[in-house]
Amino acid sequence: MAACQIFTVFKTPLFMLRISLVAFTMLFASTIVLAQKIDQIINAKEVERIEKILSADNMEGRRTFTPGIDRAAVFIAEEFRKAGIQPVKGSSYLQEFTVPQIQSLITGTIDGKTVNPGADVAFISASDTYTLTSDSAFEKLIIKSTDTLQVTLRRLMGGSKNYLLLVDTAHHEIFNALKQGRRFNPSMKSNIIMLYGPTEPSSFSLTLSKKTVQAALKNVVGIIPGKSKKDEIVIFSGHYDHLGITQPDANGDSIYNGANDDAAGTTAVIMLAKYFAQKKDNERTIVFAAFTGEEVGGFGARYFSGQFDSSKVMAMFNIEMIGTDSKWGKNSAYITGYEKTDLGKILEKNLAGSGFTFYPDPYPKEQLFYRSDNATLARQGVAAHTISTSKMDSEKTYHTVDDEIGTLDMKNMAEIIKAIAISSTSIIAGKDTPSRVDTKMLR
Ligand SMILES: [Zn+2]
Repeated sequence: MAACQIFTVFKTPLFMLRISLVAFTMLFASTIVLAQKIDQIINAKEVERIEKILSADNMEGRRTFTPGIDRAAVFIAEEFRKAGIQPVKGSSYLQEFTVPQIQSLITGTIDGKTVNPGADVAFISASDTYTLTSDSAFEKLIIKSTDTLQVTLRRLMGGSKNYLLLVDTAHHEIFNALKQGRRFNPSMKSNIIMLYGPTEPSSFSLTLSKKTVQAALKNVVGIIPGKSKKDEIVIFSGHYDHLGITQPDANGDSIYNGANDDAAGTTAVIMLAKYFAQKKDNERTIVFAAFTGEEVGGFGARYFSGQFDSSKVMAMFNIEMIGTDSKWGKNSAYITGYEKTDLGKILEKNLAGSGFTFYPDPYPKEQLFYRSDNATLARQGVAAHTISTSKMDSEKTYHTVDDEIGTLDMKNMAEIIKAIAISSTSIIAGKDTPSRVDTKMLR
């Protein structure tokens, strides 16, 4: 807009120039005021404050179905409340739902003692229920400290017997991981039960079984109702779940902090909520969503998307991994599925002269358009895209325990969030409506 105004000044006859200059000065001044206002809300310091909390070790990697992710949800909801946006349901920002989950159970006794659910027993079983007792036919193996447990397991999984493994405590890390992932594999012929410690119990009876439970999940969602076009919706989203905790690496780090993936996107959503809540001029309704379950199958976005008539959703800005510089350096990001709608063109138009650039996704082979939470609504025709800077061919910390706050560029992140805020303005104002995704063209 400012660039256009300068152009008018030069085309104006001389006698009008003074008036235009006055108008220009006023516009220039108001642009500065606006710029100052957005800088007060969206800035590196605020990015750092939110990032620090979301990617802290005490969030335990924000894995779906864990207390760590629930702590993150409470924090995000509180930020939405402070922003002054409306809760999604009654007084709550939590959009709760359930998904069926298979739980592996182990019951029975070892040397007369009842095993508890957290007992040091791991298994990989061919059948859905299976009982092994000290009187059953099985082959016993002792896994010494010098043996490689994984290699032995791989060999036994191809066998056809029942095995009891007495695993030396030197293998505690692998054992604990196996214990957490007690699982059933119908393609096997063998059943493998592993006990921690090299001592064979004199009597035991163990039953493995599985049951389906309804597991609770929550998105965090807030709304700013539109002034004149309430029914028309624009969504800003990012996923707040991540990968949890793994075995410690050489430095003893076991937590997937997910500072970039996707505390960064969640941070953007929180800041955009604050920005638009203070701006208070949205003609269309804006919905802000932090999704759960992205890393385990996109449960959160699927449930969320089901709550809308997709024909009323004008655009979705899903934000994923904007914490590192893009392949073009600072002040740039890319849009997945760029060519599928004209949303990118609208954003570019609104950023003309700003020095910030949105590029088409440079990693088409990675199929990023289909790999994030925008995909569900895009499949219903919504101009739903993901904005990212992640260098998918070389992002070193991607899905590692090193995805920590120290690797992020807070200042650049603030610039990206500001660019999203400014470039989406004409869509939020109801002046621009992006074309819809042609679903017949999707794979
Ligand atoms: Zn992600």
